[in-house]
Amino acid sequence: MEFFNIFNNEIAIDLGTANTLVYVRNKGVVINEPSIVAINKRSNKLIAIGQEAKEMMGRTHDEIVVVRPLKDGVIADFEMTELMLQEFIRKVSPARFMGKRVVIGVPVGITMVEQRAVRDSAEHAGAKEVYLVAEPMAAAIGVGIDITESKGSMIMDIGGGTAEIAVIALSGIVCDRSIRNAGDELTKAIVQYFRIQHNLLLGDQTAEEIKCTIGSAVPLPKELTMEIKGRDIVSGIPRTLATDSAEVRKALNEPISKIIEGTKNTLERTPPELASDILDRGIVLTGGGALIKGLDERIKKETGLPVIVAEDPLTAVVRGVGIVLENLSKYQQVILKAKKY
Ligand code: ADP
Ligand code: MG
Repeated sequence: MEFFNIFNNEIAIDLGTANTLVYVRNKGVVINEPSIVAINKRSNKLIAIGQEAKEMMGRTHDEIVVVRPLKDGVIADFEMTELMLQEFIRKVSPARFMGKRVVIGVPVGITMVEQRAVRDSAEHAGAKEVYLVAEPMAAAIGVGIDITESKGSMIMDIGGGTAEIAVIALSGIVCDRSIRNAGDELTKAIVQYFRIQHNLLLGDQTAEEIKCTIGSAVPLPKELTMEIKGRDIVSGIPRTLATDSAEVRKALNEPISKIIEGTKNTLERTPPELASDILDRGIVLTGGGALIKGLDERIKKETGLPVIVAEDPLTAVVRGVGIVLENLSKYQQVILKAKKY
């Protein structure tokens, strides 16, 4: 057995729009990096991947292009997604991917064509068996919800490109909603706000840092302050500006409201019996977006339901696909059926 283990041939992947995490059977999570690739435009050769590629973002010269292949919604660039997936798989199994089994979490809103693309790229990387699981289902399993129960649970996974909301019962998704309005939109709203209100152009990474450090959805007991750097649009010269969480909250209000609208909308479509289960148990938040300060409180205030932020929300999906991988026969029902062409 040990012999096969050295090839890491059973893996589970959270292919997120912002971060890709890889779980190896019997080892746990071994990769947790941004879903970013840097390639040479001329030769089309891969230059860097993950964190290393992220550091190049906004700092490249003509020959290098840095892309987030899953940026806008689900898969924006098939070719790059495949390249990235293969490279991450190669990283955990440098010998040669003996590729027996791969479980991959995919957004609920994914089309059949996109499912096919994810499957194909894993197969091109050497996988013999590819199993796809909807992300909110994986997140629910990852946070320890018993998804086989008849009682309903509501999970909301707020990632970079999409917020996925699902009501789960009896190993199935009863109703779901995928909103293309999540972490990236919050970052974009910050860029836009400072451009319009302060004539200050911020880089995406700066805006993301502002969001993570002082971004909030409700007034904070003690508002936080931050010094930010950008380029003055009028003079073209770099300058700093002092801001605080109250101001950033204004910038975030619209996209946060849209995410909450999506939650309400899903609740409206939830069958009454399940809705009453959710009233008892609350909504569980996962994904990086769950870390926005006070988001739980805001959703609670607007829906009247209890809201729980999962422990370690950024790894919920990968832990879930890891559990599916380790217990494939128990979780047969959550695996998305492949359509034959
Ligand atoms: P995906 O599944 O799409 O890859 P993740 O669940 O990894 O997304 O979450 C990434 C998103 O969460 C990014 O938009 C990131 O900016 C955001 N995020 C991460 N940490 C925080 C934080 N502390 N506060 C607010 N947003 C955060
Ligand atoms: Mg995710």
